[in-house]
Amino acid sequence: MRILVTGGAGFIGSHLIDRLMAEGHEVLCLDNFYTGHKRNILKWLDNPYFELIRHDITEPIRLEADQIYHLACPASPIHYQFNPVKTVKTNVMGTLNMLGLAKRVKARFLLASTSEVYGDPEVHPQTEEYRGSVNPIGIRSCYDEGKRIAETLAFDYHRQNDVDIRVARIFNTYGPRMLENDGRVVSNLIVQALKGIPLTVYGDGSQTRSFCYVSDLVEGLMRLMNGDYIGPVNLGNQDEYTISQLATEVQKLINPHAEVKYEPLPQDDPRRRRPDITKARQLLGWEPKVPLQEGLQLTVADFQSRIQSSVQPSPL
Ligand code: NAD
Ligand code: UDP
Ligand code: UDP
Repeated sequence: MRILVTGGAGFIGSHLIDRLMAEGHEVLCLDNFYTGHKRNILKWLDNPYFELIRHDITEPIRLEADQIYHLACPASPIHYQFNPVKTVKTNVMGTLNMLGLAKRVKARFLLASTSEVYGDPEVHPQTEEYRGSVNPIGIRSCYDEGKRIAETLAFDYHRQNDVDIRVARIFNTYGPRMLENDGRVVSNLIVQALKGIPLTVYGDGSQTRSFCYVSDLVEGLMRLMNGDYIGPVNLGNQDEYTISQLATEVQKLINPHAEVKYEPLPQDDPRRRRPDITKARQLLGWEPKVPLQEGLQLTVADFQSRIQSSVQPSPL
Protein backbone atom coordinates (compact mmCIF):
# COMPACT_ATOMS: atom_id res chain seq x y z
CA MET A 1 0.00 0.00 0.00
CA ARG A 2 0.97 3.61 -0.49
CA ILE A 3 0.77 5.25 2.93
CA LEU A 4 1.05 8.93 3.77
CA VAL A 5 2.30 9.83 7.25
CA THR A 6 1.95 13.51 8.14
CA GLY A 7 4.35 14.49 10.94
CA GLY A 8 6.41 11.43 9.93
CA ALA A 9 9.74 12.98 10.95
CA GLY A 10 8.51 13.42 14.53
CA PHE A 11 8.70 11.13 17.52
CA ILE A 12 5.67 8.82 17.02
CA GLY A 13 5.56 9.30 13.23
CA SER A 14 9.11 8.05 12.70
CA HIS A 15 8.50 4.90 14.78
CA LEU A 16 5.32 4.29 12.79
CA ILE A 17 7.26 4.69 9.53
CA ASP A 18 9.82 2.10 10.71
CA ARG A 19 6.98 -0.42 11.14
CA LEU A 20 5.30 0.45 7.82
CA MET A 21 8.56 0.19 5.88
CA ALA A 22 9.37 -3.13 7.57
CA GLU A 23 5.99 -4.42 6.38
CA GLY A 24 6.91 -3.54 2.79
CA HIS A 25 4.65 -0.54 2.20
CA GLU A 26 5.48 2.49 0.13
CA VAL A 27 5.67 5.44 2.55
CA LEU A 28 5.31 9.15 1.93
CA CYS A 29 6.46 11.29 4.83
CA LEU A 30 5.15 14.85 4.98
CA ASP A 31 6.74 17.18 7.55
CA ASN A 32 7.70 20.82 8.00
CA PHE A 33 10.42 19.90 10.55
CA TYR A 34 9.00 22.14 13.26
CA THR A 35 9.59 19.52 15.97
CA GLY A 36 10.56 16.67 13.66
CA HIS A 37 14.05 15.89 12.47
CA LYS A 38 15.65 14.30 9.41
CA ARG A 39 17.82 12.06 11.60
CA ASN A 40 14.65 10.20 12.70
CA ILE A 41 14.06 8.96 9.16
CA LEU A 42 17.65 9.05 7.90
CA LYS A 43 17.85 5.30 7.41
CA TRP A 44 15.02 5.37 4.86
CA LEU A 45 16.16 8.32 2.74
CA ASP A 46 17.89 6.15 0.11
CA ASN A 47 15.11 3.57 0.01
CA PRO A 48 13.15 3.69 -3.27
CA TYR A 49 9.91 2.91 -1.39
CA PHE A 50 10.34 5.98 0.84
CA GLU A 51 9.68 9.59 -0.08
CA LEU A 52 10.20 12.66 2.09
CA ILE A 53 8.28 15.84 1.31
CA ARG A 54 9.04 19.00 3.23
CA HIS A 55 5.66 20.66 3.39
CA ASP A 56 3.50 22.61 5.81
CA ILE A 57 0.05 21.00 5.94
CA THR A 58 -1.66 24.36 6.47
CA GLU A 59 -1.11 24.72 2.69
CA PRO A 60 -3.00 22.42 0.29
CA ILE A 61 -1.10 19.63 -1.44
CA ARG A 62 -2.10 17.03 -4.03
CA LEU A 63 -0.74 13.53 -3.49
CA GLU A 64 -1.91 9.97 -4.02
CA ALA A 65 -2.27 7.53 -1.11
CA ASP A 66 -4.33 4.53 0.06
CA GLN A 67 -4.06 5.38 3.75
CA ILE A 68 -3.24 8.58 5.64
CA TYR A 69 -1.93 8.62 9.21
CA HIS A 70 -2.44 12.25 10.19
CA LEU A 71 0.02 13.02 12.99
CA ALA A 72 1.38 16.45 12.05
CA CYS A 73 1.03 18.77 15.07
CA PRO A 74 3.46 19.70 17.83
CA ALA A 75 2.56 17.62 20.90
CA SER A 76 4.57 19.08 23.76
CA PRO A 77 3.08 22.06 25.66
CA ILE A 78 6.19 24.22 25.24
CA HIS A 79 6.21 23.67 21.48
CA TYR A 80 2.48 24.00 20.85
CA GLN A 81 2.31 27.11 23.06
CA PHE A 82 5.30 28.78 21.34
CA ASN A 83 3.08 29.80 18.41
CA PRO A 84 -0.48 28.97 19.49
CA VAL A 85 -2.10 30.53 16.42
CA LYS A 86 0.01 28.26 14.24
CA THR A 87 -1.05 25.27 16.38
CA VAL A 88 -4.70 26.13 15.71
CA LYS A 89 -3.98 26.53 11.97
CA THR A 90 -2.21 23.17 11.88
CA ASN A 91 -5.14 21.44 13.59
CA VAL A 92 -7.90 23.22 11.67
CA MET A 93 -6.55 24.12 8.21
CA GLY A 94 -4.01 21.27 8.21
CA THR A 95 -6.60 18.64 9.13
CA LEU A 96 -9.07 20.14 6.64
CA ASN A 97 -6.49 19.87 3.85
CA MET A 98 -5.63 16.28 4.72
CA LEU A 99 -9.32 15.34 4.88
CA GLY A 100 -9.85 17.08 1.51
CA LEU A 101 -7.01 14.97 0.16
CA ALA A 102 -8.47 11.78 1.68
CA LYS A 103 -11.83 12.62 0.10
CA ARG A 104 -10.31 13.23 -3.34
CA VAL A 105 -8.21 10.04 -3.45
CA LYS A 106 -10.63 7.91 -1.35
CA ALA A 107 -7.93 7.10 1.22
CA ARG A 108 -8.63 5.82 4.71
CA PHE A 109 -7.76 8.61 7.17
CA LEU A 110 -6.55 8.14 10.76
CA LEU A 111 -6.50 11.18 13.04
CA ALA A 112 -3.99 11.24 15.89
CA SER A 113 -6.21 12.91 18.47
CA THR A 114 -5.38 13.14 22.14
CA SER A 115 -6.47 12.58 25.72
CA GLU A 116 -6.32 16.39 25.94
CA VAL A 117 -9.84 16.43 24.43
CA TYR A 118 -10.91 15.40 27.96
CA GLY A 119 -9.21 18.52 29.41
CA ASP A 120 -8.88 18.44 33.21
CA PRO A 121 -11.23 15.46 33.59
CA GLU A 122 -14.01 15.15 36.17
CA VAL A 123 -14.43 11.48 35.21
CA HIS A 124 -11.72 8.98 36.08
CA PRO A 125 -10.55 6.90 34.30
CA GLN A 126 -11.58 8.51 31.04
CA THR A 127 -13.89 6.61 28.70
CA GLU A 128 -14.55 7.65 25.10
CA GLU A 129 -18.11 8.68 26.07
CA TYR A 130 -16.85 11.37 28.45
CA ARG A 131 -17.17 14.73 26.69
CA GLY A 132 -14.40 16.46 28.55
CA SER A 133 -13.75 19.57 30.56
CA VAL A 134 -11.64 21.87 28.41
CA ASN A 135 -11.00 25.55 29.05
CA PRO A 136 -11.69 27.16 25.65
CA ILE A 137 -9.61 30.28 26.38
CA GLY A 138 -6.62 28.95 28.31
CA ILE A 139 -3.01 28.47 27.23
CA ARG A 140 -3.60 24.79 26.36
CA SER A 141 -6.72 25.50 24.28
CA CYS A 142 -4.89 25.94 20.97
CA TYR A 143 -4.01 22.26 21.22
CA ASP A 144 -7.02 20.85 23.12
CA GLU A 145 -9.69 22.73 21.17
CA GLY A 146 -7.64 22.33 17.99
CA LYS A 147 -7.80 18.55 18.36
CA ARG A 148 -11.50 18.69 19.28
CA ILE A 149 -12.30 20.54 16.03
CA ALA A 150 -10.01 18.12 14.15
CA GLU A 151 -12.22 15.28 15.48
CA THR A 152 -15.34 17.24 14.46
CA LEU A 153 -13.94 17.73 10.95
CA ALA A 154 -13.12 14.03 10.65
CA PHE A 155 -16.64 12.98 11.67
CA ASP A 156 -18.26 15.61 9.39
CA TYR A 157 -16.18 14.48 6.40
CA HIS A 158 -17.26 10.95 7.26
CA ARG A 159 -20.97 11.80 7.45
CA GLN A 160 -21.02 14.33 4.62
CA ASN A 161 -18.47 12.93 2.16
CA ASP A 162 -18.15 9.26 3.14
CA VAL A 163 -14.50 9.64 4.06
CA ASP A 164 -13.36 6.43 5.74
CA ILE A 165 -12.03 7.73 9.08
CA ARG A 166 -10.38 6.35 12.22
CA VAL A 167 -9.91 8.48 15.36
CA ALA A 168 -7.34 7.57 18.03
CA ARG A 169 -7.24 9.41 21.34
CA ILE A 170 -3.61 9.01 22.31
CA PHE A 171 -2.55 9.28 25.98
CA ASN A 172 0.96 10.30 27.13
CA THR A 173 3.48 8.38 25.05
CA TYR A 174 7.25 8.26 25.51
CA GLY A 175 10.32 6.55 24.12
CA PRO A 176 13.51 6.92 22.11
CA ARG A 177 13.77 9.91 19.72
CA MET A 178 11.91 12.37 21.92
CA LEU A 179 13.75 15.67 21.57
CA GLU A 180 16.18 16.62 24.32
CA ASN A 181 14.38 19.96 24.55
CA ASP A 182 10.94 18.38 24.04
CA GLY A 183 9.73 19.76 27.37
CA ARG A 184 7.52 16.80 28.28
CA VAL A 185 8.03 15.24 31.64
CA VAL A 186 9.68 11.92 30.72
CA SER A 187 12.33 13.47 28.49
CA ASN A 188 12.90 16.41 30.87
CA LEU A 189 13.53 14.18 33.90
CA ILE A 190 15.80 11.77 31.99
CA VAL A 191 17.87 14.54 30.38
CA GLN A 192 18.19 16.36 33.72
CA ALA A 193 19.29 13.21 35.57
CA LEU A 194 21.84 12.36 32.86
CA LYS A 195 23.24 15.90 32.90
CA GLY A 196 23.43 15.96 36.70
CA ILE A 197 21.05 18.90 37.11
CA PRO A 198 17.99 18.92 39.41
CA LEU A 199 14.84 17.13 38.22
CA THR A 200 12.01 19.64 37.74
CA VAL A 201 8.69 18.57 39.25
CA TYR A 202 5.87 21.03 38.63
CA GLY A 203 3.46 21.66 41.52
CA ASP A 204 3.72 19.19 44.40
CA GLY A 205 4.12 16.24 42.03
CA SER A 206 0.81 14.63 43.06
CA GLN A 207 -0.79 15.03 39.60
CA THR A 208 -0.96 11.77 37.67
CA ARG A 209 -0.34 10.54 34.12
CA SER A 210 -0.26 7.09 32.50
CA PHE A 211 2.75 6.54 30.26
CA CYS A 212 2.61 4.37 27.14
CA TYR A 213 5.76 3.12 25.44
CA VAL A 214 5.94 4.13 21.79
CA SER A 215 6.06 0.61 20.27
CA ASP A 216 2.81 -0.27 22.05
CA LEU A 217 1.18 2.92 20.77
CA VAL A 218 2.29 2.31 17.17
CA GLU A 219 0.81 -1.20 17.32
CA GLY A 220 -2.49 0.30 18.50
CA LEU A 221 -2.53 2.89 15.71
CA MET A 222 -1.94 0.22 13.06
CA ARG A 223 -4.64 -2.06 14.47
CA LEU A 224 -7.11 0.82 14.49
CA MET A 225 -6.22 1.82 10.92
CA ASN A 226 -6.62 -1.73 9.61
CA GLY A 227 -9.71 -2.70 11.62
CA ASP A 228 -13.38 -1.86 11.11
CA TYR A 229 -14.04 0.36 14.13
CA ILE A 230 -13.89 4.08 13.34
CA GLY A 231 -13.49 5.27 16.92
CA PRO A 232 -12.84 7.40 18.79
CA VAL A 233 -10.76 4.92 20.73
CA ASN A 234 -8.44 5.55 23.67
CA LEU A 235 -4.88 4.29 23.19
CA GLY A 236 -2.70 4.46 26.27
CA ASN A 237 -1.25 2.59 29.20
CA GLN A 238 -3.48 2.07 32.22
CA ASP A 239 -0.73 2.16 34.86
CA GLU A 240 -1.15 5.51 36.56
CA TYR A 241 1.77 7.27 38.28
CA THR A 242 2.12 10.54 40.14
CA ILE A 243 4.83 12.76 38.69
CA SER A 244 6.77 12.31 41.98
CA GLN A 245 6.66 8.52 41.46
CA LEU A 246 7.93 8.99 37.92
CA ALA A 247 10.80 11.14 39.23
CA THR A 248 11.65 8.34 41.69
CA GLU A 249 11.72 5.78 38.87
CA VAL A 250 14.10 7.99 36.90
CA GLN A 251 16.28 8.49 39.98
CA LYS A 252 16.45 4.69 40.50
CA LEU A 253 17.58 4.18 36.91
CA ILE A 254 20.10 7.00 36.58
CA ASN A 255 21.09 8.51 39.90
CA PRO A 256 19.35 7.75 43.22
CA HIS A 257 20.81 10.97 44.67
CA ALA A 258 19.59 13.27 41.89
CA GLU A 259 18.08 16.38 43.43
CA VAL A 260 14.41 17.27 42.84
CA LYS A 261 13.46 20.91 42.33
CA TYR A 262 9.80 21.97 42.64
CA GLU A 263 8.52 24.56 40.17
CA PRO A 264 5.08 26.17 39.78
CA LEU A 265 2.31 24.07 38.23
CA PRO A 266 1.47 25.44 34.76
CA GLN A 267 -2.02 26.88 34.19
CA ASP A 268 -4.80 24.34 33.42
CA ASP A 269 -2.46 21.38 34.06
CA PRO A 270 -4.77 18.30 34.30
CA ARG A 271 -4.81 16.79 37.82
CA ARG A 272 -5.36 13.16 36.86
CA ARG A 273 -5.26 11.17 33.67
CA ARG A 274 -5.72 7.46 32.95
CA PRO A 275 -7.37 5.84 29.96
CA ASP A 276 -10.17 3.32 30.09
CA ILE A 277 -9.03 1.02 27.28
CA THR A 278 -11.95 -1.43 27.32
CA LYS A 279 -12.83 -0.46 23.72
CA ALA A 280 -9.28 -0.93 22.43
CA ARG A 281 -9.11 -4.32 24.17
CA GLN A 282 -12.45 -5.54 22.84
CA LEU A 283 -12.47 -4.02 19.36
CA LEU A 284 -8.78 -4.05 18.45
CA GLY A 285 -7.49 -6.86 20.68
CA TRP A 286 -4.90 -4.35 21.84
CA GLU A 287 -3.29 -3.56 25.16
CA PRO A 288 0.13 -2.18 26.11
CA LYS A 289 2.85 -4.72 26.82
CA VAL A 290 5.88 -2.67 27.90
CA PRO A 291 5.96 -1.78 31.62
CA LEU A 292 7.19 1.68 32.62
CA GLN A 293 10.49 0.46 34.10
CA GLU A 294 11.41 -1.39 30.89
CA GLY A 295 10.33 1.46 28.60
CA LEU A 296 12.25 3.97 30.69
CA GLN A 297 15.41 1.85 30.41
CA LEU A 298 15.16 1.83 26.61
CA THR A 299 14.51 5.57 26.58
CA VAL A 300 17.41 6.32 28.94
CA ALA A 301 19.76 4.27 26.73
CA ASP A 302 18.73 6.33 23.68
CA PHE A 303 19.21 9.68 25.45
CA GLN A 304 22.52 8.47 26.88
CA SER A 305 23.91 7.69 23.43
CA ARG A 306 22.68 11.00 21.99
CA ILE A 307 24.02 13.09 24.87
CA GLN A 308 27.38 11.27 24.74
CA SER A 309 27.77 11.74 20.99
CA SER A 310 26.93 15.44 21.32
CA VAL A 311 29.84 15.97 23.75
CA GLN A 312 32.36 13.92 21.73
CA PRO A 313 34.67 16.02 19.54
CA SER A 314 33.47 15.66 15.95
CA PRO A 315 35.85 13.76 13.62
CA LEU A 316 37.85 15.97 11.25
P1 NAD B 1 6.22 15.48 17.51
O1 NAD B 1 6.22 16.93 17.83
O2 NAD B 1 7.46 14.70 17.72
O3 NAD B 1 5.74 15.24 16.02
C1 NAD B 1 4.91 16.09 15.30
C2 NAD B 1 5.45 16.22 13.89
O4 NAD B 1 4.59 17.05 13.13
C3 NAD B 1 6.84 16.85 13.84
O5 NAD B 1 7.67 16.09 13.00
C4 NAD B 1 6.57 18.23 13.28
O6 NAD B 1 7.67 18.76 12.59
C5 NAD B 1 5.36 17.97 12.39
N1 NAD B 1 4.54 19.16 12.15
C6 NAD B 1 4.04 20.03 13.08
N2 NAD B 1 3.32 20.99 12.47
C7 NAD B 1 3.33 20.72 11.14
C8 NAD B 1 2.77 21.34 10.00
N3 NAD B 1 2.04 22.46 10.10
N4 NAD B 1 3.01 20.80 8.78
C9 NAD B 1 3.75 19.67 8.65
N5 NAD B 1 4.31 19.04 9.69
C10 NAD B 1 4.10 19.55 10.92
O7 NAD B 1 5.02 14.86 18.37
P2 NAD B 1 4.60 13.36 18.61
O8 NAD B 1 4.71 13.10 20.06
O9 NAD B 1 5.27 12.45 17.65
O10 NAD B 1 3.04 13.45 18.27
C11 NAD B 1 2.51 13.03 17.02
C12 NAD B 1 1.01 13.20 17.03
O11 NAD B 1 0.43 12.43 18.08
C13 NAD B 1 0.54 14.63 17.24
O12 NAD B 1 -0.57 14.88 16.42
C14 NAD B 1 0.14 14.66 18.69
O13 NAD B 1 -0.87 15.62 18.91
C15 NAD B 1 -0.38 13.25 18.89
N6 NAD B 1 -0.29 12.87 20.32
C16 NAD B 1 0.92 12.61 20.89
C17 NAD B 1 0.98 12.28 22.24
C18 NAD B 1 2.29 11.97 22.91
O14 NAD B 1 2.30 11.76 24.12
N7 NAD B 1 3.41 11.92 22.23
C19 NAD B 1 -0.19 12.24 23.00
C20 NAD B 1 -1.40 12.55 22.38
C21 NAD B 1 -1.43 12.84 21.03
N1 UDP C 1 -7.10 19.67 -0.58
C1 UDP C 1 -5.77 19.35 -0.63
N2 UDP C 1 -5.37 18.30 -1.40
C2 UDP C 1 -6.25 17.56 -2.13
C3 UDP C 1 -7.60 17.89 -2.07
C4 UDP C 1 -8.01 18.96 -1.27
O1 UDP C 1 -4.93 19.97 0.02
O2 UDP C 1 -5.80 16.64 -2.81
C5 UDP C 1 -7.53 20.81 0.26
C6 UDP C 1 -8.30 21.85 -0.52
O3 UDP C 1 -7.40 22.81 -1.05
C7 UDP C 1 -9.25 22.43 0.51
C8 UDP C 1 -9.36 21.37 1.59
O4 UDP C 1 -8.44 20.34 1.23
O5 UDP C 1 -8.64 23.57 1.11
C9 UDP C 1 -10.75 20.78 1.66
O6 UDP C 1 -11.04 20.19 0.43
P1 UDP C 1 -12.54 19.91 0.00
O7 UDP C 1 -12.49 19.32 -1.40
O8 UDP C 1 -13.24 19.14 1.01
O9 UDP C 1 -13.18 21.34 0.01
P2 UDP C 1 -13.22 22.51 -1.08
O10 UDP C 1 -11.95 22.43 -1.88
O11 UDP C 1 -14.42 22.20 -1.89
O12 UDP C 1 -13.34 23.73 -0.26
N1 UDP D 1 5.90 18.14 34.38
C1 UDP D 1 6.82 18.20 35.41
N2 UDP D 1 8.12 18.50 35.12
C2 UDP D 1 8.55 18.74 33.85
C3 UDP D 1 7.61 18.67 32.79
C4 UDP D 1 6.29 18.37 33.09
O1 UDP D 1 6.47 17.99 36.60
O2 UDP D 1 9.75 19.00 33.67
C5 UDP D 1 4.51 17.78 34.69
C6 UDP D 1 3.43 18.62 34.02
O3 UDP D 1 3.12 19.75 34.81
C7 UDP D 1 2.27 17.64 33.95
C8 UDP D 1 2.95 16.27 33.77
O4 UDP D 1 4.30 16.45 34.21
O5 UDP D 1 1.56 17.62 35.16
C9 UDP D 1 2.97 15.80 32.32
O6 UDP D 1 3.45 16.85 31.53
P1 UDP D 1 3.76 16.69 29.98
O7 UDP D 1 4.11 18.04 29.45
O8 UDP D 1 4.71 15.58 29.78
O9 UDP D 1 2.38 16.17 29.35
P2 UDP D 1 0.87 16.68 29.47
O10 UDP D 1 0.75 17.70 30.55
O11 UDP D 1 0.57 17.24 28.13
O12 UDP D 1 0.13 15.46 29.80
